[in-house]
Amino acid sequence: MEKLALRYEGKAKKVYDTDQSEYFWVAYKDDATAFNGEKKGQIADKGEVNNLLSALFFEELEKSGIPTHYVRLISNRDMLVRRLEMIPLEVVVRNIVAGSLSKRLGVEEGYVLSQPVVELYYKDDALGDPLVNESHVSAMGWASAVVVQEVQALGLKINELLKKILVKAGIDLIDFKLEFGIVDGKVYLGDEISPDTCRYWDIETREKLDKDRFRRDLGRVEEAYQEVFRRVKEALAHS
Ligand code: UDP
Repeated sequence: MEKLALRYEGKAKKVYDTDQSEYFWVAYKDDATAFNGEKKGQIADKGEVNNLLSALFFEELEKSGIPTHYVRLISNRDMLVRRLEMIPLEVVVRNIVAGSLSKRLGVEEGYVLSQPVVELYYKDDALGDPLVNESHVSAMGWASAVVVQEVQALGLKINELLKKILVKAGIDLIDFKLEFGIVDGKVYLGDEISPDTCRYWDIETREKLDKDRFRRDLGRVEEAYQEVFRRVKEALAHS
């Protein structure tokens, strides 16, 4: 597999063309941003952790029948993925109140929701990714009504599968963000599943093991990323 022209550079990943038009080469970076790019930094070896951890999760989800863009690892920092036509939405699933939901509803972080909540955000940096609902999505033509139903159902199914893995790693899945795309009319999970895109709390100590350590200057950021990877790898090895 040959890496060709850089097609797109995001905040955390670079996407390259390959010699096969149906695949992209994704290179994970150590760059970290928060608050819509206002805070910038680096998290040592984040690229490796996010690549390898995402690969583990994608493999497990595939085993449970969730179509993902993941094809295979190329190196510790690079993965080969299926090229998707991306849906311009961030699908957020929440089990416990944190972050923007805590602010929006005036509810303290840590409040346990009686059932998972799914939210849709329109992916647009200039607008700060505004919260939207299903009817905005259909009316704007960002996705059909059928597809928006499907991504929400997939979000809930992925939530159950991830929670099951993470609980074995002693981690509570607080919330996370997914992105989806389409190839030949079929919906696939894209992007990544990592401490950049999820909130993970230690089940016992409630210590944050995710990007909130960077966002909120809590220290031990690298250690938290490594710890999540180590625990998930170990949990999967024993399951
Ligand atoms: N999230 C993300 N990218 C974004 C916004 C949110 O990966 O652009 C993730 C975030 O890490 C968290 C979940 O989605 O796990 C919910 O984030 P929230 O809406 O609380 O926003 P935040 O507090 O991160 O601004």
